[in-house]
Amino acid sequence: MSAPLLSIKSVSKKFGAVVALEDVSLDVGAGEFFALLGPSGCGKTTLMRCIAGFESPDAGTIALSGVDLSGVPPYRRPVNMMFQSYALFPHLNVFENIAFGLRRQGETRDAIDARVNELLAMTQLSSFGHRRIAELSGGQKQRVALARALAPRPKMLLLDEPLGALDRKLREETQFQLKEIQRRTQMSFLIVTHDQDEALALADRIAVMRAGRVEQIAGPMEIYDRPATRFVAGFVGETNFIEGRLDRNGAVALITEYGRIPCEPGNLPDGAQATLSMRPERIGVARDGEGIAGFVEDFVFRGETTLLRVRVASNIVLRAAASHGERHAIGDSVRLSFPPGAGALLAEER
Ligand code: ATP
Repeated sequence: MSAPLLSIKSVSKKFGAVVALEDVSLDVGAGEFFALLGPSGCGKTTLMRCIAGFESPDAGTIALSGVDLSGVPPYRRPVNMMFQSYALFPHLNVFENIAFGLRRQGETRDAIDARVNELLAMTQLSSFGHRRIAELSGGQKQRVALARALAPRPKMLLLDEPLGALDRKLREETQFQLKEIQRRTQMSFLIVTHDQDEALALADRIAVMRAGRVEQIAGPMEIYDRPATRFVAGFVGETNFIEGRLDRNGAVALITEYGRIPCEPGNLPDGAQATLSMRPERIGVARDGEGIAGFVEDFVFRGETTLLRVRVASNIVLRAAASHGERHAIGDSVRLSFPPGAGALLAEER
């Protein structure tokens, strides 16, 4: 990989006794769409504010294009932040909001006109240049905020929960627009979100954070299919935690009280207690034949799939997704099958 655009090394930050960031290291490449994902309070906003220069780390370094940013004030950093509240100027119209950063940079009138018109078109606001901010919908305000942040061509755009204020339907539509704009501009986007679906949909890579630390950094598919820890597996998507003893004799499997569950070899020793994360949709559901026997205790229709709660032992219920069209009733006997490699062996908890 070529030298990263943003390089964060061993950054820690405390507020009094609260540890907001602990030994965080990550790189973001040029043109990459990167997401910081985690529950409320995990430190993602603090990390973004450290990059923007609104906070300074107690320890560690943040460099952009190889230049250490410590001591560089926010307005001198080649990054721009789009706030969750949008922070638009109510007394300026749409055009002037977008032009704001360019005027401050002292660009010529023609250059400003050209750039603002380009951004109005890119964000589908071409006929809104003269509108006042108060006369815009939530989605339009979001696009003005995005255009304003993009206008001065920062090397990296920081987006704090950029879709947080939009309703569900609009969010989905706006995800596509955001991704399209990132692709077209080839700018690095760093987004903060607590919404796993949003991170999976948008990002090239995701850092999952928990209590000030990074738990895993990987592409969306790897985060989903190969979560490294119990926390990541539980936070991103739905899953079953299957506990058992590893049997490495022959086909590797976890031995549980309800049967053998095939799994990847991993690097745990034979006989070790282990946890496998298994997504409901990776479990096969059949009425009879091979597999682990259980009965349907409950189910919810989800449209494309039906999520079954299947009791496989007196104290264990697994969730399995049955395909569309299969009808199940409470009390039905089923057989569950587990394709080898369908689950992820989790690392020991820290
Ligand atoms: P959210 O999604 O709710 O914004 P977050 O993951 O972005 O959460 P941060 O806002 O970074 O989390 O906060 C991390 C921790 O640091 C929290 O415990 C928070 O209360 C604390 N914290 C953040 N900013 C300050 C501050 N200025 N003063 C004191 N404590 C702070």
